[in-house]
Amino acid sequence: MRRRKWLTILTSGFLFSQAHSISTVLASNLETQNQTSNASINAEFDVLIIGAGGAGLSAAVAAREAGAKRVAILEKSAIVGGHTMLSAGTVTVASDGDRTVQELMNDIVAMGGRRSLARTLAEQSGATLQWLSDMDVAWEAKLFRAVGSGTGTPRNLSTGSQRGGWDIVQALASRARKLGVEIYFEHRAIKLIQDSKTHHIVGVVAKTLNGKEKTIFAHAIVIASGGFSASQKLQARFAPNIPTVSGSTADTMGMTPDLASGDGIRMGEEVGAKLVDMDAIECIPYTGGRVLDFAGAEIWLNAEGDRFVNEEASFDVIAGAMQNQTGGFMWTITDAKSKKGANFGTKLVAGIVREASSLTVLAKETGISYEKLVDTMTAYNNMATTGHDPQFGRTTFNQTIDTPPYYFGIERLSVHFTMGGLLIDEKTRVLDHNEHPIPGLFAAGETTGGVHGRKRLSGNALTEAFVFGRIAGREATMFVQEDRLKSDLSHSK
Ligand SMILES: Cc1cc2nc3c(=O)[nH]c(=O)nc-3n(C[C@H](O)[C@H](O)[C@H](O)COP(=O)(O)OP(=O)(O)OC[C@H]3O[C@@H](n4cnc5c(N)ncnc54)[C@H](O)[C@@H]3O)c2cc1C
Repeated sequence: MRRRKWLTILTSGFLFSQAHSISTVLASNLETQNQTSNASINAEFDVLIIGAGGAGLSAAVAAREAGAKRVAILEKSAIVGGHTMLSAGTVTVASDGDRTVQELMNDIVAMGGRRSLARTLAEQSGATLQWLSDMDVAWEAKLFRAVGSGTGTPRNLSTGSQRGGWDIVQALASRARKLGVEIYFEHRAIKLIQDSKTHHIVGVVAKTLNGKEKTIFAHAIVIASGGFSASQKLQARFAPNIPTVSGSTADTMGMTPDLASGDGIRMGEEVGAKLVDMDAIECIPYTGGRVLDFAGAEIWLNAEGDRFVNEEASFDVIAGAMQNQTGGFMWTITDAKSKKGANFGTKLVAGIVREASSLTVLAKETGISYEKLVDTMTAYNNMATTGHDPQFGRTTFNQTIDTPPYYFGIERLSVHFTMGGLLIDEKTRVLDHNEHPIPGLFAAGETTGGVHGRKRLSGNALTEAFVFGRIAGREATMFVQEDRLKSDLSHSK
């Protein structure tokens, strides 16, 4: 009920009709540069954000908290949330002072992340998750090792609910509403407006559902429009050889549209932003038989019934190993005891995950010989009991897998996360080809590059969105305040 009211207010569009103080000289100068615009809104925002996912909502809240006066978000869809809402909500935290900060930073740098950005993510993770706690995000007080997080120290957290990402989005959206952030739904940003003399980014052209274009001016712009898992054009241009057969993880079974069309990256490139790591695309098993978000209660077998990888390895290792198996797929198997993730019920109803009442049925359904299956499962359960995996070195075993019914399904690789994007610095300023900031332009979340490098540890994407989104909101506000001060000083001379 509360949510419907919120959406109604936000979609009414009344806020655009207000007249504001943008300089007419600036507006007319820019208007002539912007040939694509057929309608200009005479509104001026302090901070204008593109995208209402985790990074965009964090930026909006942080901007208001830092003192920005009018803050708005342009969101191309009809709801807030983006991939953040669909996510399992697993975050990474360096929880225990300098040692864990250093460890997390080193792990990110080893994967090609820029040191300054990796340090920022690790150092700010604790404070940022506390910031979300203060908005009533209730983290479970238990660190765990997420699937794909690699073999280091357990450093993942979640709300423990089946819809972790949605929990966080709700908290952020509610805080944004309380702070008076304006959200314009069904407004797709299509172009940034750059002052031809100063190179400042001073506005955005957005397209509404009825095809009308609007020009919206702001002192600072934050791009938070997510990655490009839905853009075949960008994938074909930068990563023609990605090993995917199953679409993207945000577009499960074709039921939800993947909104990550890479618009922010394209718009940034058009104004001279440097793109990095665009060919680094993460493909993971997600849309098939997997029903757990943590490593420790699932066994993965190839068509022949053998384990072939450490189930708690990082996703790049898992993807590499999967590609070498017969048919490029694997069976995932868990049992009645394990705590299932959000998509378990849907997958079961859709027949993607199936139930087997015994190992005999499981063998028949998977086509693995009964003797082989019993051997593999017995060896696995012995390892789970002793905690020692002589073959692949797995160390996390939450339980044995021996209580029927068994739940199983086929997994293939789908595009999940795009590591590359707009290069930013630790203040989230978008950098040009000489790695100088483009004035007035900030970016955060999956639209950026440089944070993870070539690979990504599980949980780091959401932490990235919240940490850098928050920084972007603050930094954009500081930029506006400094700009205003300079302008006041020059007028008083
Ligand atoms: C199924 C799934 C599960 C995941 N689970 C995890 C997890 O547990 N832990 C983890 O760390 N990561 C996870 N990830 C990755 C993580 O969710 C994303 O990297 C992260 O949410 C990105 O946040 P963001 O704010 O950058 O983008 P998003 O949350 O995707 O938000 C971007 C927003 O921008 C909007 N937008 C796009 N283009 C425009 C435009 N031109 N104009 C206006 N608006 C626009 C979109 O509609 C969207 O609302 C998961 C991803 C998926 C798909």
